[in-house]
Amino acid sequence: MPLVSYITKTLFEEIRASINNNEEQDRSFWRPVLPWGGVFTIRAGRKAVSCIPLCVEIQLKNTCTIDGFLMILYVILRDNRGFHRELAVFLGKQFIERFLYLMDSCDYTTVKMLWIWNRMSKRQYRSEIHQTALEIDLFGNEHQNFTENLENLMSTMQQSLCTNWSCPTRFQNITKTTINISPPHELPHRDPIQSAVDEFFSPKLLLCTEKGCDGLREFSHRVFCHGPPPFVILNMQQWRSEDLSYVPYHLVLCQYLLEGATLFNKEEHHYSAAFQIDGCWMHYDGLRSDNLILLHRPPELLLLSSLVYVRASQK
Ligand SMILES: [Zn+2]
Ligand SMILES: [Zn+2]
Repeated sequence: MPLVSYITKTLFEEIRASINNNEEQDRSFWRPVLPWGGVFTIRAGRKAVSCIPLCVEIQLKNTCTIDGFLMILYVILRDNRGFHRELAVFLGKQFIERFLYLMDSCDYTTVKMLWIWNRMSKRQYRSEIHQTALEIDLFGNEHQNFTENLENLMSTMQQSLCTNWSCPTRFQNITKTTINISPPHELPHRDPIQSAVDEFFSPKLLLCTEKGCDGLREFSHRVFCHGPPPFVILNMQQWRSEDLSYVPYHLVLCQYLLEGATLFNKEEHHYSAAFQIDGCWMHYDGLRSDNLILLHRPPELLLLSSLVYVRASQK
């Protein structure tokens, strides 16, 4: 593992400095950050140092399904020193250290390869060989490509018991690894997102769905399996833009604060991300040439794909 000490300034420090020093008219970061796609060169034939190494390329396509979240993950980890160790429990110490080192030193293609090789399973992307290059296409859904690969970080558990004694599965223990919330049925709602999160965690009484059972099923309070995680990603795919008139900054769930969001452009099937550093909101889009800009108002024509909240209080 190379030492971080010879990097004069990390990417995070550079972005932070540019926000705090820039004039109002200079609204973008001075160079591209985590551009869309990427070409990764595999060097083979290590023993033949004097010969021209055989270079085989990996060409990445449609990486926006992981790029926005990689950017947000980096900002969260660099902005919250203590999260590093907590996250290592789920993703591995080596992964976290390598990830931070590659992002700090702007090795963007390698960081994407790290995610693909270390976190994703082969069935989550298409790959094809074109002559001496391997093409990896990440076209798809960012929750499948990113959120679902965070191991048990956000795992929650809810137990339920059916009132019918002859129910085939009276007692159930259901674990979910992601937080997929749906809009409340009655609209308009003053704080629909908070209500949906409450609904996800709260105890409830529902008709049992077991075949041939007419009992009532009592669900317990849902709890985090490993305590409140450093951050939570709310899957917002079921929400229409008219449901999203209000996004809470503060989530009454073990004290979480809004840190970022990922956005979806339906026409182009393309994802981008927004996040905050020192109270300033930035919009990242890997396809744009100035791909990191200061945000003064919400980007238009984009749907919310996720909301990312970080834990404010200590465990
Ligand atoms: Zn039942
Ligand atoms: Zn895209």
